[in-house]
Amino acid sequence: MSKPETDRFDVVVVGGGNAGFSAVHSAVEQGAKVLLLEKAPEDAAGGNSFYTAGAFRFAFDGLTDVADLLEPDERHADSVVPAYPESAFEDDMRRVTDGKCDPVLTKILVSRSADAVRWLAGKGIQWRLMYERQAYLSDGKWVFSGGLFVGTVDGGKGLIAQHTKAALEEGVEIRYDAEVTALHLSDAAERGVTYRDSGGAEHRIRARAVVLSAGGFESDPERRAEHLGEGWDRALVRGTPTNTGDVLDLALAAGAAPHGDWGSCHSVAWDADGSPTGGNRELTNQLTRQSYPIGIVVNIEGERFVDEGADFRNYTYAKYGREILRQPQGRAFQLFDAKTRPLLRKEEYDSRPIAGAQADSLAELAEELGIDVDGLRRTVAEFNASIVDEPFDPAVKDGRAAQVQPPKSNWAQALDTAPYYGYAVGCGITFTFGGVHVDESAQVLDTEGQPIDGLYAAGEMVGGLFSGNYPGGSGLTSGAVFGRLAGAGAAKPVGNG
Ligand SMILES: Cc1cc2nc3c(=O)[nH]c(=O)nc-3n(C[C@H](O)[C@H](O)[C@H](O)COP(=O)(O)OP(=O)(O)OC[C@H]3O[C@@H](n4cnc5c(N)ncnc54)[C@H](O)[C@@H]3O)c2cc1C
Repeated sequence: MSKPETDRFDVVVVGGGNAGFSAVHSAVEQGAKVLLLEKAPEDAAGGNSFYTAGAFRFAFDGLTDVADLLEPDERHADSVVPAYPESAFEDDMRRVTDGKCDPVLTKILVSRSADAVRWLAGKGIQWRLMYERQAYLSDGKWVFSGGLFVGTVDGGKGLIAQHTKAALEEGVEIRYDAEVTALHLSDAAERGVTYRDSGGAEHRIRARAVVLSAGGFESDPERRAEHLGEGWDRALVRGTPTNTGDVLDLALAAGAAPHGDWGSCHSVAWDADGSPTGGNRELTNQLTRQSYPIGIVVNIEGERFVDEGADFRNYTYAKYGREILRQPQGRAFQLFDAKTRPLLRKEEYDSRPIAGAQADSLAELAEELGIDVDGLRRTVAEFNASIVDEPFDPAVKDGRAAQVQPPKSNWAQALDTAPYYGYAVGCGITFTFGGVHVDESAQVLDTEGQPIDGLYAAGEMVGGLFSGNYPGGSGLTSGAVFGRLAGAGAAKPVGNG
C-alpha cells in the first residue's frame, strides 16, 4: 500500500450525484474550499442522477410562476399547467407513503422545493416543461397532471453536465475513481475521510466537515436481499452500479441513527432484458415502461395483478416494480392495442432494442411473449366486458373503470383492435428508502438524537422521506434541498461562524 497522502479542505463531499453537487455549490457559496470524491471513473460518473429523466417535483402557482425559468417553447400558450401548492405536495407525500413520511423532513422538502429549483437555475441548471412525459393533448391543449411538470434540459445527462460545469467554474476539485472507505470523525483536528484510488492506493483527506451523498444500497444484491427480503437480489438495476451501500454502513458504524423504511424501495416496470448490475448510459431512463395506465398488465399466466389505473402514473409507478417481482419468474407484460399504442411514451416504447412483440391476434401475441394463451383469453374477455361507459380521457382521472378483480379504476379501454402490442417487463430497482437520520440542517443524528459533529448527509442517504411508494420527481428535489442545507451547514465554521 502506498504512503497515505494528506490533503486539507474545508468540506469534503462524498458522492457526485445531484445531492453531492448541490452540497458542493452551497458550501462554495459560504466560501469553503471543497473537494468532491466520486467512486466511479469520470466516464461513468453522475450516480443515479445521470440516469434520470431530470424530473423535479416542487410546489408552484402555475405556468406564469415558473415561466421565467423555462426554455422557450411555442406550446406554452396552449398548455394547461395546474398550480401545485405546498399543501398538495405534502398531501401527496403523506398519501403515497401511507403516512409514514417523517413530518419534519417532509415539511423541509416541500417548503424548500421551489426555492431549491430557482437556486439551481442560478447555478446554471436549465429547465423545461416535460411535454413528452407528463402531458396529453386534449382538445388542442397540452394538459399536465400528476403534480410533476418541470424537468432539466437533456434530462439527467444534462443535469450532471450542468452541475459539473458549475462546480469546476466555482473552483471545486473533483476526484473520480475515488472510493471512500473510511470516515474519521472522533477527533475534530483529524476529521475527514480515506479514499482508495483506481490503483488501490489509499489517500487521507482532512476537512472540517464531511457531507455524505453516496446513494443507497440498490446496486448491491446481498444488501438488497438482507434488507428488502427474498427475491430482491434478482431485481434489475436501473441506475449506477456504484450505489452499494458501503457509505451507509460507514455512517452507521460511526454512530449515525438509521432512519426511515429500510425494508422498501423505489422500483418500476423496466425492460425485461435490462441488466441486473446497472443501467444503460446511452438509453438511461428509456428502459422504463410507464404507459401501463392506459393498457393492461398481466403475468405469465395471463392474469392481471394490479389496478393499472388506480391513480396518475406518478403516484403508482414506484410501487408496481415490487408487484412484478412477486409474479411467476418475476415478469409481467404490458398489453396495448391499435387504439392505445399511439398514446404510449415515444421515448420509452419506440426505443430499441425492446423486449416486446406485435401480433394480429391476442393468441399470437401471447405465444410470442410466452404468456398462457387461454389465461390471457379469459382475462381479456372478462376485462373487456366489464368496462363502464364513460368517455376515455388520459389527461384526467376519467372514471372509465373496468369492474373486475383487481379493478382498473380509470382509463379502461377494451383490448379489441389489432394489431396488438406487448412489452415484457421485470422489476427495475431505482433506489432504497432507508437511510440515516438528519436534522433540519441535514446534519446527521446519532442514536441518541444528538447531531454528530462535522457530519452531514443528503439525497438517497437521507432516510425517512419515503416508504413503500413515492411521488415521482421527489428524489432529485430531495437531493437539491438537503444537499443545499448540508453544504451550507458543513461550511458554516468557515464563513459565517
Ligand atoms: C433510471 C432512473 C430514473 C430516475 N428518474 C428520476 C427523475 O426523473 N426524477 C427524480 O426525482 N428522481 C429520479 N430517479 C431517482 C434519482 O436518481 C435519485 O433520487 C437521485 O438521483 C439521488 O441522488 P443522489 O445524489 O442522492 O445519488 P446519486 O445520484 O446516485 O449519487 C451518488 C453517488 O455516490 C457515489 N458513491 C457511492 N459510493 C461511494 C463511495 N464509497 N465513495 C465515493 N462516492 C461514492 C456513486 O458513485 C454516485 O455517483 C431516477 C433514478 C433512476 C435510476
